[in-house]
Amino acid sequence: MVAVLPVGATEQHGLHLPPETDTLLAVAAAGALVDELVDGPVDDPGEARACFTVLAALAFGASGEHQAFPGTVSMGTEALASVVLELGRSVSTWADRLLIVNGHGGNVEALRLAVTRLRYEGRDAAWLSCRTAEDSTDTHAGHAETSLMLHLHPDLVDMERAEKGCTAPLREILPAMREGGVAAVSPTGVLGDPTTASGGEGARLWHLLVAEARASLIAWNPGDADGMLR
Ligand SMILES: [Zn+2]
Repeated sequence: MVAVLPVGATEQHGLHLPPETDTLLAVAAAGALVDELVDGPVDDPGEARACFTVLAALAFGASGEHQAFPGTVSMGTEALASVVLELGRSVSTWADRLLIVNGHGGNVEALRLAVTRLRYEGRDAAWLSCRTAEDSTDTHAGHAETSLMLHLHPDLVDMERAEKGCTAPLREILPAMREGGVAAVSPTGVLGDPTTASGGEGARLWHLLVAEARASLIAWNPGDADGMLR
């Protein structure tokens, strides 16, 4: 049995996306991953489905960089690492494997800490991010993320309120963000340009993302240093 835990975040996503965006993406990716595997060439889809269980999502993560904006609810890296570690220990009493599907880049350090610890304890845990190869000028509530939401949850996107945010490459804005968070570089909280987003682009990105994650899941090769599936 593989237990799949979606881990998201609750944080500002500009004026056009809901704060739970990262959690919604992680939940959708976890579901799609399992469905695609189960719909593959297996003798008995019912039996294959019984090999996976998708757990309720962890909807809060490490979002300190967004704290200047209302709507952000963060538990920070240390607390998130502890929570994931304890959930992993609990789940591993009945599941053979734990796969964490991550929806928020800020959670990576906590996942690295928790999953390497779980693996050190002899538990078969790993994580992957539900993102496609990233464009460093479009990292938060921009073209890609808004397109994915238009594909998956169009009713939750308000394109009339979408505004172009900061589109400088991440490496240029990182020093300012380390000092003052996202607010220091983007008054709307957006890093990227959501005004060019579309549902069609979201569908294209979604299929790439799920295919990539599925290949990583089948290969199951967690990195020694971080426990991430590649
Ligand atoms: Zn997001």
